[in-house]
Amino acid sequence: MPKSAVSPPARKYRPKTIAGIEIPAQLVLPLESELTGRLSWLVHLRWGAALLVTLSGLWCTWYDVGIPGREVTAVGVTIALYNLLILLTLQRYLRNHILNANLQIGLDWLALLVLMHLTGGMHSPVLMFFIFHVLIAAILMPGRGCYWHSLIATVAIGMVGLLELVGVIPHIRPIWANLPPPGSHQLLVLVGFFGLSVFLCAFFASTISHHLRRLEQEQIDLQEKFAEAIQRLDAANQGLIAIDSQKSRYTHTVTHQLRGPLSAVHALLRVLVDGYEGEMNAKAMDIVKRVEARTVQLLDTVRDLLDFAGLDFEPREEQGEQVKLISVVSNLLEKYVPSADLRRIALDASIPDDLVILATEHDIELALDNLMGNAIKYSHSGGSVEVRGWQAEGQVHLSVRDHGIGISPEAQKQLFTEFYRAPNAKEHEPYGTGLGLVIVKRSVQRWGGSVSVQSIEGEGATFTLHFPQPQAPCT
Ligand code: ATP
Ligand code: MG
Repeated sequence: MPKSAVSPPARKYRPKTIAGIEIPAQLVLPLESELTGRLSWLVHLRWGAALLVTLSGLWCTWYDVGIPGREVTAVGVTIALYNLLILLTLQRYLRNHILNANLQIGLDWLALLVLMHLTGGMHSPVLMFFIFHVLIAAILMPGRGCYWHSLIATVAIGMVGLLELVGVIPHIRPIWANLPPPGSHQLLVLVGFFGLSVFLCAFFASTISHHLRRLEQEQIDLQEKFAEAIQRLDAANQGLIAIDSQKSRYTHTVTHQLRGPLSAVHALLRVLVDGYEGEMNAKAMDIVKRVEARTVQLLDTVRDLLDFAGLDFEPREEQGEQVKLISVVSNLLEKYVPSADLRRIALDASIPDDLVILATEHDIELALDNLMGNAIKYSHSGGSVEVRGWQAEGQVHLSVRDHGIGISPEAQKQLFTEFYRAPNAKEHEPYGTGLGLVIVKRSVQRWGGSVSVQSIEGEGATFTLHFPQPQAPCT
């Protein structure tokens, strides 16, 4: 037997979800379901065959063509009846599709054998229909099934021919083949050629069918591998998210623990710097002042780390509130006026009273605090910083503009990367963590917002926050 005709390994049932991932319906290939569909198609085809045989039988009854018309009609009606039985029982209750197919084809063989006998035995044109049925068997069943059907068909027609030859059943002579039954040699040749034809048909049809099934199987295997890879990727991603959240929690806890003692150290140093514990010599005062400045920097770093880690693991409040931007900006102006005055930087704000966004005050303050802090930090003394708010195209915009050192185009591409600081910023102000803008981006994204930047190096920078406009107006 040719290799390609060997049946593929038994197929297990394939669910539409593979490795827990749903495969789109159009990608699911038919296997068992395909066979069920093909069997239904055979049932439909059989209605046509039953009608054709019945009409032919009636025609033979009216016109004498040497064929027993009533018997042919009876075969047609029988085909229709057993087809109805198949529809009501086998198709509904028989879950074994291969057995179902074998039973259906077996019944068809019987009907065909009777028809063959009624229409001229070995001279009957009905013989052609056996080949047609072998093709159907090759399409319907995987593997060797169709070869068994070819063998059974060959043996069965040989038996009919033999029974007619020896006179056990009468030989019917239609007018188109008014011949005696073939003799033993003739019968052997006829059966031999018939057998060869059906086996060749079975071979070609099953080879093509097997090839198509193998392609289907390969595609299904690929789908499975793909779905499993997605699942593994998803699991790895979940693991990374968990580790990241753990890391943020750890950073948050450690920095929180550091903040208390550091604030206490800073408060004590302030007592010394402000002279509440008496006069100090100039050298000692200089050292204490430097220690205090470093402590302030450390406190800033701790604050940035706290904000950064907090944004990662603190769950976002489900419902935001209507935050009045004017009040957030006023608070921050109050906070920054002393340090801005010290460097002769003018602060200016222009925010409509009724400008609101949907968020939490904490997140908006966090974003604006960092932007205003940067604007002052990276301005030259004598410069100015403007905060502006407005509404346009269904969005609320909030910009912080300065006329300081600006940002080069290369640096602009990396601004929102953790710990990134541009070379000109390091030169201007050596201290900084490079976390501020990441905090800005995350805290606005939580509320559907975004941040953009426009800058020319040496001329200043404008950072703008964009938020969706809230539905209900603020009351
Ligand atoms: P910190 O985390 O302490 O705020 P930082 O200010 O350096 O440190 P970010 O606020 O994240 O960090 O800013 C990142 C970088 O973006 C800065 O180092 C600087 O290069 C650039 N940058 C941000 N704002 C401005 C600005 N207004 N003008 C010029 N450069 C800016
Ligand atoms: Mg900053």
